[in-house]
Amino acid sequence: MKIRVLGAFGGEGLGQRPSAFLVNDRLLIDGGSVTGALTVPEQLEIEWALVSHSHLDHIAGLAYLTETLACRGTRRPVTLASLEPVVDALRSAVFNNVLWPDFAQVPESCPVVKYRSLVEGAEQRVGDLWVTPVPVTHTVPAAGFILHDGETGLIYSGDTGPTRALWEAARGLHGLRAVILECAFPNRLDRLAEVARHMTPALIQRELEKLPADVPVWVFHVKPQFFEETAEELSRIDSGRVTIIEQDKTYSL
Ligand SMILES: [Zn+2]
Ligand SMILES: [Zn+2]
Repeated sequence: MKIRVLGAFGGEGLGQRPSAFLVNDRLLIDGGSVTGALTVPEQLEIEWALVSHSHLDHIAGLAYLTETLACRGTRRPVTLASLEPVVDALRSAVFNNVLWPDFAQVPESCPVVKYRSLVEGAEQRVGDLWVTPVPVTHTVPAAGFILHDGETGLIYSGDTGPTRALWEAARGLHGLRAVILECAFPNRLDRLAEVARHMTPALIQRELEKLPADVPVWVFHVKPQFFEETAEELSRIDSGRVTIIEQDKTYSL
């Protein structure tokens, strides 16, 4: 499995893009930034987007991606897939002809967006991967995803505060190679993290006990405004397992 980091942050800063990951060139995990990180031919290859939730830092790039697809007259739509409440939010609050065109109807000859509601907690085929969506703890309906290609597995937390269901769903998974875990704020903003349902380095330290042992934890979604401070606190987690994921890098699992 090949993971290209299009955006590694929980917001936008100078050279810091919102969260998006491209798996095997064809499938997005979140789409906070897509068109700012890929060439047009690369964008046209995308067939699937697993969307963790409807917040802008995870979907803004999908707006521009769909525009690229529509303008280039592609014959292949991108399918936006998630738990049903997330799909409903995309339909009603984003691609609603107010915030952005309803690309499930446009262009008329060949609409560029399709939707697919995934079955909660069940492993199902998405493209050439197996995907299990699991609800996580956030301020809006949100999913984490377990991805597997038959040999290698990956857990993506999406945005979440401390959680349990996702780790339990992944228990016993063979070939698990990495956990991509969110962290938004430094420890001194723990009250804000609690209200906004996000992690801090201290919460990640505690979360490690629930995670499958020995699997590397790649942190994404640090807020650009607090990057240095949060990174310093993350570096003090004394496990050897926790690193910050690098934007623009491609990881092979
Ligand atoms: Zn976010
Ligand atoms: Zn969010």
